[in-house]
Amino acid sequence: MKPDIRDRTRAELEESLSLLGEKPLHAAAVFGALYRDGAVSFADMGRVPERVRRLLARDFRLAPFEKPEVLVSAADGTRKLLFSFPGRAPAESVVLPGKGRLSACLSSQSGCACGCSFCSTGAMGLVRDLLPAEITAQYAACLREAGGELSSLVFMGMGEPFLNWDNFRRAAQILSDDAGYGFPQSRMTVSTVGIVPAIRELTASGLKVKLAVSVVAADERLRARLVPMEARYPLREVIAAAREHCAARRAQVFFEYIVFDGVNDSAEDAARLWRLIKDIPCRLNLIPHNPPGGPGAGVTPRVKAFQKTMMSFGVRTYLRLEKGPDISAACGQLAASRRGSAG
Ligand code: SF4
Repeated sequence: MKPDIRDRTRAELEESLSLLGEKPLHAAAVFGALYRDGAVSFADMGRVPERVRRLLARDFRLAPFEKPEVLVSAADGTRKLLFSFPGRAPAESVVLPGKGRLSACLSSQSGCACGCSFCSTGAMGLVRDLLPAEITAQYAACLREAGGELSSLVFMGMGEPFLNWDNFRRAAQILSDDAGYGFPQSRMTVSTVGIVPAIRELTASGLKVKLAVSVVAADERLRARLVPMEARYPLREVIAAAREHCAARRAQVFFEYIVFDGVNDSAEDAARLWRLIKDIPCRLNLIPHNPPGGPGAGVTPRVKAFQKTMMSFGVRTYLRLEKGPDISAACGQLAASRRGSAG
């Protein structure tokens, strides 16, 4: 099958055009046609010379994706988009309302191979990596749902983005390209459970996206029970890679900590977490555990006490409130099912 033209970054498309004997600058017009005009066929690309369009149509494919099904939370207006990509790869995105702003959470894989014990996506196993075009198509659909304005993008949906690094990197480059959507990389955050070599690749790359690391639990034995990837990349190595990233980029990192009631929320757990991250410029997000398929207990007094303890250590600590509880749209609940539909 011919490759999808939307899987190419502009630099890659320029190279293809050069090989076809055409001027590389036509790539900017192709990006404008695809991402500003919404062209879904080569014939639609009015701003690209016909000769170039014919050559591109010979070497690439371009067809519209199926429209996603949209579920809207009656509780808080969160929107969950369910995509069916070719080859029966389901994926989900979420448009999250905040204080006067909307953000989108995108998937990088259909399913996930990491198998975290608390995560519905992990229970699916990996169906397949999503291609750059399938990641940028989620952005386009979320942008439509958001009425044309999104303030930030997070790659925290289905999948581990760093196990699909090349496609994630291409998607971030395509989304931020000024000839197309022009969404700034500085307003994108990529979240990882701790794939150390890929954290280092991000640090060494030119990508300006922010880094979020899922700590989940600060005790390595407990973490190993919750996050199988701990056996391959122990938390101390993950934190060391995050520390190097902050130093190299002069940036802060986000640490995500899932609070399990009575499991990792004691004062001793808070002290252990602080010892781990105390010398790293960071922001800590506490996420009350959302069990698969149902609303969690939310912000309990124990969660609040944990936050207070971390703040007393001087760590900027925020509570991430559950979104879309009635449509299974919260962290760890994405499983490409229609369960909990709120219409
Ligand atoms: S939490 Fe993230 S890395 Fe772990 S199984 Fe779920 S999607 Fe994969």
